[in-house]
Amino acid sequence: MAMSAENEHPVKAFGWAARDCSGHLSPFKFSRRVTGEKDVTFKVLYCGICHSDLHNVKNEWGTTSYPVVPGHEIVGVVTEVGTKVTKFKVGDKVGVGCLVGSCLSCANCKEDLENYCPKMILSYGSKFHDGTITYGGYSDNMVSDEHFVIKIPDNLPLDGTAPLLCAGITVYSPLKYYGLDKAGMHLGVVGLGGLGHMAVKFAKAMGLKVTVISTSPNKKKEAMDRLGADGFLISRNTEEMQLAMGTMDGIIDTVSAVHALLPLIGLLKSHGKLVLVGAPEKPLELLSAPLLMGRKIVGGSLIGGIKETQEMIDFAAKHDIVADIELIPMDYVNTAMERLSKADVKYRFVIDIANSLKSS
Ligand code: NAP
Ligand code: ZN
Ligand code: ZN
Repeated sequence: MAMSAENEHPVKAFGWAARDCSGHLSPFKFSRRVTGEKDVTFKVLYCGICHSDLHNVKNEWGTTSYPVVPGHEIVGVVTEVGTKVTKFKVGDKVGVGCLVGSCLSCANCKEDLENYCPKMILSYGSKFHDGTITYGGYSDNMVSDEHFVIKIPDNLPLDGTAPLLCAGITVYSPLKYYGLDKAGMHLGVVGLGGLGHMAVKFAKAMGLKVTVISTSPNKKKEAMDRLGADGFLISRNTEEMQLAMGTMDGIIDTVSAVHALLPLIGLLKSHGKLVLVGAPEKPLELLSAPLLMGRKIVGGSLIGGIKETQEMIDFAAKHDIVADIELIPMDYVNTAMERLSKADVKYRFVIDIANSLKSS
């Protein structure tokens, strides 16, 4: 008979889980493995709430197995390291993002692209090497092979750094890979949420001109004054969109719901690149003619490899980049999810795990 989540491993753990597709989260006892020889165990201090957590708890992608403890923007302090760990010691500030495992031997892994390994193991809702299901960072402690652990530089505040582990790397990686990181280029960022606001910050630090494309004027003032965007388009205003046609070298599209691609492709110059990082649960419509005319590209990108994630964190430390967050207690999580579904957050919820997750 399969062991229950509470006693399949020796180390007690406590978090919040969703039990069904209502997505409602509530307290949950489970367990974690003892620190293996290459493992780092850490006390979770903060965990960001990614829209992927929302897709997952509601089973919008049809891939969720319950109970699910979400959370893949996890930061904390190391409490124990295995005998063969070389990169970390007790007391270090560390983070874990979306990945806790991969084969480490396939062509992608060998190129530091663990994020494209066919055997990658996600921080939650994945089957681990030992056959047990992984649980994420809405919990009091975490254990991971050191390969998948990121070092957090001292000057970065831990709460605002948590969202870099998913939202940050998810936009940093395509800016680099698609060559949209050259000073002076014009970048569009569609959707000013968790991912979108990080895209604005990274692109500005790289010297790009950035235009936000949003569904309403609600976020305009902050986008320009606080985040440093150079322009702001309202996607529902066709006249405004028309005027901006053919002006952008690239676009990072972070929208979490089904939306029209055609007006975005129209914003691109010839050879422009539309990079999709948002993951709506239904297909998007793509007409080929607007791509042919101007040799434009539509591509995708999934988080980033571990080496690049460390590079992104170090870049963030150098340029003082962290997420703009709303720090919330654990028991606010269901309200936060509700607000996230309405794009009502500036710009990332982060759970204050250490101060608000109570097991009694
Ligand atoms: P988020 O904070 O909710 O931001 C998404 C933004 O999209 C919203 O703030 C809103 O911006 C815009 N939006 C929402 N509904 C829309 C609609 N119907 N039409 C047009 N725009 C709409 O979400 P997030 O955490 O940034 O994640 C965004 C998406 O990326 C999710 O699907 C998530 O699963 C996915 N994701 C992918 C990866 C990857 O590796 N590729 C990693 C993490 C997340 P405005 O208010 O400005 O309109
Ligand atoms: Zn995420
Ligand atoms: Zn691999």
